[in-house]
Amino acid sequence: MPTDPSIADRRAAILDRIARAATEAGRAASDVTLVAVSKLQPQEKIAAILDAGQRVFGENRVQEAAGRWAGENRREGLELRLIGPLQSNKAAEAVALFDVIETVDREKIAGALAEAMAKSGRTPRLYVQVNTGEEPQKAGVAPAAADAFIARCRDLGLSIEGLMCIPPEREPAGLHFALLRKIAERNGVGKLSMGMSGDFETAVRFGATSVRVGTALFGGR
Ligand SMILES: *Cc1c(COP(=O)(O)O)cnc(C)c1O
Repeated sequence: MPTDPSIADRRAAILDRIARAATEAGRAASDVTLVAVSKLQPQEKIAAILDAGQRVFGENRVQEAAGRWAGENRREGLELRLIGPLQSNKAAEAVALFDVIETVDREKIAGALAEAMAKSGRTPRLYVQVNTGEEPQKAGVAPAAADAFIARCRDLGLSIEGLMCIPPEREPAGLHFALLRKIAERNGVGKLSMGMSGDFETAVRFGATSVRVGTALFGGR
């Protein structure tokens, strides 16, 4: 199997930058998980980063993720995270495949997940996605509706482990990371999925417990 040393090097450099940002913020580097966003990346790059020791992966689409990680391609010891929008008709498939679903953002999805989890006995960890910039084209619950939505999820029997956001491109990300953290704190939610290739160090300073990094690890898609 060909290995690409540049991917291992890039991963090491990113882990180092995460560790430095965590230390600067008075946090332990081990508090922050690097999620490698493997969507649309060729298999040889995935193989290289697996060789380098990466075990946590993020995917945007249930179908693409199933093709890459399910069936005969299933590997032990990996953690798969869904970070793209979920349709309720894919809830059962998502529950079967993913260890973490980060994009719970409406009642219909919450209900479909609760049902799929009850049926299958699988209990992926769940995050609520918050549309911190209130952008119409983005998924996520509005910040003002987040408390009620989290409460509704809990009523349905879902345990919400974390919150996730994707800040608007042209605004300082820190404002959005701070807002997400505040919503988490007042709702007793412990984990924060925030920060991507361009801003993961900022996210770590604002309390991210996982960062979702694609292009900085693998190159362009
Ligand atoms: C694609 C994607 C990422 C990774 O983005 P990069 O800028 O390539 O690091 C992170 N989070 C989500 C939700 C994504 O869709």
